[in-house]
Amino acid sequence: MLSNRLKYLFLNLVSIFLLFSITAFGQSDSYKQYSFDRKVVIVIDPGHGGSDVGKPRSKSYYKHESDLNLDIAFRLGGYLEERVKNVEVKYTRKTDRTVSLEERVNYANSVKADYFISIHCNSLSNKSYHGTQVHIQSKKFQTSYALAKQIDQDFIRAGRKSRGIRERSDRGHNLQVIQYTEMPGVLVECGFMSNAKEEAYLNSGKGQTYIASALFRAIRDFENKRPRPQADRRYPYYRVQIGSTTNPTADLKSKKIKNLKMKVDPQKEGKVYSLLVGREYEKKVADQLAKTIRKKGFKDAYVRKFDAPKPKPVTPKKVEVPAVKEAKVAVVNTTATKDTTNSSKQNDKLADLHFYRIQIMSSVDDVDLNKREFKVLGYPVFLFYDEESKNAYKYQVLVGKTYSKEEAQKILASVRQKGFPDAFIVTVLENQARKPHKQLLP
Ligand SMILES: [Zn+2]
Repeated sequence: MLSNRLKYLFLNLVSIFLLFSITAFGQSDSYKQYSFDRKVVIVIDPGHGGSDVGKPRSKSYYKHESDLNLDIAFRLGGYLEERVKNVEVKYTRKTDRTVSLEERVNYANSVKADYFISIHCNSLSNKSYHGTQVHIQSKKFQTSYALAKQIDQDFIRAGRKSRGIRERSDRGHNLQVIQYTEMPGVLVECGFMSNAKEEAYLNSGKGQTYIASALFRAIRDFENKRPRPQADRRYPYYRVQIGSTTNPTADLKSKKIKNLKMKVDPQKEGKVYSLLVGREYEKKVADQLAKTIRKKGFKDAYVRKFDAPKPKPVTPKKVEVPAVKEAKVAVVNTTATKDTTNSSKQNDKLADLHFYRIQIMSSVDDVDLNKREFKVLGYPVFLFYDEESKNAYKYQVLVGKTYSKEEAQKILASVRQKGFPDAFIVTVLENQARKPHKQLLP
């Protein structure tokens, strides 16, 4: 028989035990723990913020789009962190501050996110429109597309009206954050603020919970889905080269470039920087972009194709240049040197003396110049290798060498016709000229 005191202690222990197990049970019941098979980094991007409120609220007791996006983003991130193991949630912003689209993209790329989820709320002049939309860059991106479908289905399960999945061609324009991020990504329009009922829903705790938990379930179930959808294939892609320069810092400040109102990326290729804009996954869209840019004064703008970087060859191939052809090159070089050294005046000016070559391609891998495509050009073809280039495309194939811009233009026209429509003229400073890695002489 237990003493009263012991009985009391015993009962207390029982109740503490019960309390613990109820709590533990209760927790495991409502917050079932999930785990991803791998460590997954998710970047959540609450759209707008700071000076950019997005769609403004219609009533003072509602929130602007930027704040609604942040609310939903936090709820989604909270669910993921609380209920899923092996996940790391990161935000492009956690407060009401201005973040540029470029910063958002760079951030997601720099943390090597596995998924990029941009949160927005929609609006339209037609106030009857309501429902959700999931935007992706392209249906060709199989992972992004599959994730979008999962989100769309989970929205429908949560009782939302689906306004479908939109890719670039449906929209007719790009969404920078899913255009330039390198991981599977979606931009979710959670509902229409322009619709009175839906604006109230977006501002309500219930609405935000439904939206965030639908997104949460979609990501959770998608990540562990088997079989996995094929990885996004983001190559080839196309960019428009608007020019090249040896001084990108100064050039980017020029009025002409500023007027373009596009993000211009200088990309070091050999001694010069190529100025690149846009990133399209369909050639015809890139062609259209080039056309628009040419109309804005960049008459020589043209489309370049970028293929997937391949792993570096383990052993570099030996330079294969037939002896006879080498001799011919020597003649070309001597002529060039003669031209510049004959007069001492010209010699003084050697520092800013430049010549032209035509760049026809760049490559991640070593290039075999003894191919028909190069032989038919009828000009000397040079392969340059830039060990220090930060770009994966360390090999460049250039054609000809001339001190006359006119002649360069002639060669350009010729090689473009002979199978290199994206060729362009490169200006090389004489004192910075490099030795080719390989060469082919006609
Ligand atoms: Zn928005």
